Amino acid sequence: MRSGASNGIKRLGVMGGTFDPIHHGHLVAASEVAHHFDLDEVVFVPTGRPYQKNDREVSRAEDRYLMTVIATASNPRFSVSRVDVDRPGETYTKDTLRDVRAEYGDDVDIYFITGADALAQILTWQDAEELFELAHFIGCTRPGHHLHDPGLPEGKVSLIEVPALAISSSECRERVAAGEPIWYLVPDGIVQYINKRNLYRDEAMV
Ligand code: ATP
Ligand code: MG
Repeated sequence: MRSGASNGIKRLGVMGGTFDPIHHGHLVAASEVAHHFDLDEVVFVPTGRPYQKNDREVSRAEDRYLMTVIATASNPRFSVSRVDVDRPGETYTKDTLRDVRAEYGDDVDIYFITGADALAQILTWQDAEELFELAHFIGCTRPGHHLHDPGLPEGKVSLIEVPALAISSSECRERVAAGEPIWYLVPDGIVQYINKRNLYRDEAMV
């Protein structure tokens, strides 16, 4: 299975997301994929700040970036990239993949990790043919979203089952706004960062 060790090519996972906030569903998905695909490293890439997502304001890129750093700091195989945060405008997966490759050099095979919901969206809205030249795609199960194969090209997309964690960033934000706990849905440092920066208290931001 493993080719990385013998030919010097690094196997790099790329996990893009809004991460508003990052939660244990994201971390478990990345960890499972890293194990199954024998990845050397997974780089988390918080998106740039879209004008709005699902009719709500997205938190500042810097807060989402810092939460991603805090949540991944203890894992030596996890890292965080600023490529999307630092690029102005909407985030497109092809730009993410090109910039990550520029950052890591040519000796990497890229595995783009997404949940089933995001995979379906990306392949509908962006040029799939172009994306498949830049990375192998890995779609993870996610509670409430079915994995299905919408005529995916052979060898370009793998679908894997990860332990189902019914956690979403939306639910975490709603809980904070309602004064409900988010302990154990997100890493401890994220609970503390959200309190310290007073994130998600305002219903309009949820
Ligand atoms: P929101 O509720 O605001 O949409 P989210 O929880 O979906 O947030 P995103 O930042 O949108 O989080 O997701 C980043 C990536 O992580 C996407 O590919 C998404 O499908 C995946 N993902 C999110 N939550 C889970 C989960 N519980 N299990 C597996 N994958 C997940
Ligand atoms: Mg989402």
